[in-house]
Amino acid sequence: MTANLLDFDLEGLAVFCEGLGEKRFRATQLFRWIHQRGMANFDDMSDLAKTMREKLKVHAHVAALPILSQQISKDGTIKWLFDVGAGDAVETVFIPEDDRGTLCVSSQAGCAVGCRFCSTGHQGFSRNLSTAEILAQLWFAEHFLRQHLVQTERVISNVVMMGMGEPLQNYSALVPSLRAMLDDHGYGLSRRRVTVSTSGVVPMMTRLSQDCPVALAVSLHAPTDALRDNLVPLNRKYPLDELLGECTLYLNKAPRDFITFEYCMLKDVNDQVSHAQELVTLVRKHAAQGLRCKFNLIPFNPFKESGLLRSDDATVEKFASVLIQAGFVTTIRKTRGDDIDAACGQLAGDVKDRTGVADRIAQQRAVPIQWVDRKLS
Ligand code: SAH
Ligand code: SF4
Repeated sequence: MTANLLDFDLEGLAVFCEGLGEKRFRATQLFRWIHQRGMANFDDMSDLAKTMREKLKVHAHVAALPILSQQISKDGTIKWLFDVGAGDAVETVFIPEDDRGTLCVSSQAGCAVGCRFCSTGHQGFSRNLSTAEILAQLWFAEHFLRQHLVQTERVISNVVMMGMGEPLQNYSALVPSLRAMLDDHGYGLSRRRVTVSTSGVVPMMTRLSQDCPVALAVSLHAPTDALRDNLVPLNRKYPLDELLGECTLYLNKAPRDFITFEYCMLKDVNDQVSHAQELVTLVRKHAAQGLRCKFNLIPFNPFKESGLLRSDDATVEKFASVLIQAGFVTTIRKTRGDDIDAACGQLAGDVKDRTGVADRIAQQRAVPIQWVDRKLS
C-alpha cells in the first residue's frame, strides 16, 4: 500500500521525501501543492522534477474521503458525511459567518467518553481517525468551498475540533493534523483560530500545551463533581479541581489568555440560578491562581434517546446574567444548521460500536439522573 500524503505534517513529509532520496525542501513544495492548491495529481505539480513525480506515483497518493452525503442548510451551513470504511462514517460541518468561516472537524468514529447529552457518545466508539482522515476533512472542505463559493482566497479561517469524538483521546493523530493546519506552507491558520475542545483529558491537556498550544475549549457542563460525574463520565477520573487546575497551567502556553468553558443547558438538570452561582464560586476559587475564562452556553440539542430537554430561553438568559454580573464574559451559542441536524451534539455519523462502549453507557444510564429539586429563583 502506498502512503497517503495527507497523513503527514511538513516534518513528516520531509522525512518521507528523504526516504525517497529527495531533498527536504522538496517536501515544502509538495506540501504547498497538496494543502494550498488542493492538488492530488502528481503530474500537475509542475515545479517538481519529473524523477520525483515518478517516484511519488509509485510510493504515494493523496486521497480524500468518499462522501456519503452533503446537506446545505438554509442558513448556509454545510454538513458532509464521510465514509471512513468498515461501515463507519463521520461528519464535518462548515459554518459561514460574516467575518469568518469555521470548520467543525471530527477526530474519532464515535466517542468512548459517553456523555449523557451527546448523540455521538450514545453511538459508542469504533476507532480513532488517522491524521489523514482528520486532515482530509479540511483539505476537501477548503478546496470544495473555494470552487463552490467561486473564491480564490482561503475560505476556512477557523477550525474547531468539536465534531465527533474526543480529540485528546486521539492525541498522536491529532497533533500532526493541527501542525498542518498551522503551518504557513499548509493552511496558515492562526493558533488562536484553531480550537481543541475537550471533555477534560487532563494529562493530554498538559502535553498539548507543550507540543502544540492552540486555543482550548473545555466542556464543563456542571459546577459540582456529583453532577458532572453523571453527565461527563470522564469526570470520575479527572475531577473538577484537577481539571480547572490544569486549565490554569495551560494558560501559560496558550495563544489566548482565556479558556472557553462550554456549558450545555439541560432543562432542570444543570440550568438553575443556583448552579450558576456554584459555577461562579468554583471558577473564582481558581481565578485566584490565575484562571481566566469565558463561558459559552449551548442550548441542548435534543435527541430522543437522551431523555433530556432543552432549557427554555428565559432560563438560559437568567443563567447567563448571573455569570455576567459576576464579571465573566458569557455568550449564548446560536444554533446553526439545525434543519440539517448539524448543530452541536447532533453529529451522530454512523458508527459500529466495536468496543461495547454504548452498552456499558446504557447500563450506567439505567441509574436515573439526579433531577434538581431547587426552586427557580
Ligand atoms: N469531545 C469534545 C468535542 C466534541 S463535542 C468535547 O466534548 O468537548 C463538542 C461540543 O458539543 C461539546 O462542548 C459538547 O459538550 C457539546 N455537545 C454535545 N452534545 C450536545 C448536544 N446534544 N447539544 C448541545 N451541545 C452538545
Ligand atoms: Fe464524546 Fe464530546 Fe460527545 Fe462527550 S460531548 S461523548 S466527549 S464527543
